Amino acid sequence: MKTITLEWDKDLLNKYDISGPRYTSYPTALEFSEDYQREDYITCLNSVSTDKSLSLYIHIPFCQNICYYCACNKIITKDKSKSSEYVKYLIKEIQLVSKQLKAKTLRQIHWGGGTPTYLTMEQISEIMQTIRGCFTIPNESSTEISIEVDPRALAINDIKALSLLGFNRMSMGVQDFDPKVQASINRVQSFEMTRDMMVEARKHGFQSINLDLIYGLPHQTRDTFKATLDKVIEISPDRISVFNYAHLPHRFKPQRRINSSELPSAFEKLAIFEYIIKKLQANGYLYIGMDHFAKPNDELAIAQQNNCLHRNFQGYTTHEEYELIGVGVSSIGSIGGQYHQNIRDVEPYYEALSQDLLPTWRGASMSFDDKVRKAVIFGLICHFEISKKEIEETFAIDFNQYFRNELDLLTPFITDGLLKVDGEVIQVTNRGRLLIRNICMMFDIYLNEMQIIKSFSKVI
Ligand code: SF4
Repeated sequence: MKTITLEWDKDLLNKYDISGPRYTSYPTALEFSEDYQREDYITCLNSVSTDKSLSLYIHIPFCQNICYYCACNKIITKDKSKSSEYVKYLIKEIQLVSKQLKAKTLRQIHWGGGTPTYLTMEQISEIMQTIRGCFTIPNESSTEISIEVDPRALAINDIKALSLLGFNRMSMGVQDFDPKVQASINRVQSFEMTRDMMVEARKHGFQSINLDLIYGLPHQTRDTFKATLDKVIEISPDRISVFNYAHLPHRFKPQRRINSSELPSAFEKLAIFEYIIKKLQANGYLYIGMDHFAKPNDELAIAQQNNCLHRNFQGYTTHEEYELIGVGVSSIGSIGGQYHQNIRDVEPYYEALSQDLLPTWRGASMSFDDKVRKAVIFGLICHFEISKKEIEETFAIDFNQYFRNELDLLTPFITDGLLKVDGEVIQVTNRGRLLIRNICMMFDIYLNEMQIIKSFSKVI
């Protein structure tokens, strides 16, 4: 088995600690343009041939309480009546989109947010019925139907109801189990609540259960995070995502309620991160890439092993060949060589749909150069290695000639032992894996220094 081992080098991490994109798309959403219009999207939907399989992303923007660290597009409200209107228009959007598609085979469904479990089981069921009415799910047991769950916003009995509706994958937000950390981010969620939810999910056949953690939050230290990780390992999720908290209060208003003097120092944060990596690897988790770890028998780890791991707006995925349709406010889809994003705010989203119009906000049609660069960036981010020959054959280019400037930019990475480049391959070393974003950035034609500083979170 190909095992990715991370090598820890504090000096190098400090040297390369700049901000950069997470590359869930290329070009990134910053490059999407409002020149891409509804008609472009309709043409794109119409062009999908019947033999293509689809992946559907459903965005539910509501949350009951605000988590102070949050940078998502969400609506905080305790007024549950707000979701009824949203469900009505979401259903309308699913129906409108399906009418434009000849392809009907759905092989992957993902519900994200916000908080999908903010909706009642009746509302979730109504949406699932609409999906089943508009599309065909050929084999329910082999179709990934996943949902992001907030254990604070779901009754434990509803896990069974979700399973009966067809859900078979789950991701739960945790962030940290320490009570002081939880209080400082306004997300109080006991270990027992998370554990019981997990046990119940397993009982009802959920696979690939993921827990989200964040390091760099107020009051976190190596010791508090050790205690959190011990509890996480005790309940043994199949996947663990460990995100770096980026404190950007000028961009994200809720973060202004976080007292920056309570944040761990850069030194402490790096020490926490080092501890996470060593602890998870020592407990049998494989490093998949970016912020993700998985058990060796999880489908992400297996896909990486088989060189068929891919990346999209939900992070790593096992299927690139599916056309991705996004529904709900702000959702992003990817079809052929085009990206499409919906309107961000609910009122204009409702207004468009009330006129039977698809709620397009913006998008991008990938150029030839975008496609070449995407193949390089996604190859590196998923497999830490690319074959120059494969890129040359796929795109009929001379790799060394096409990327002569980029290969020059890679020189410091080679000198620092982060990368090996020869006539055949570009390979990220164990030392370089944590800095994969920095390496990918060298192939990103859209980046300039100011964008890097202003628009993205720190790489570590
Ligand atoms: S972190 Fe999740 S639950 Fe918390 S406010 Fe953001 S979207 Fe809502």
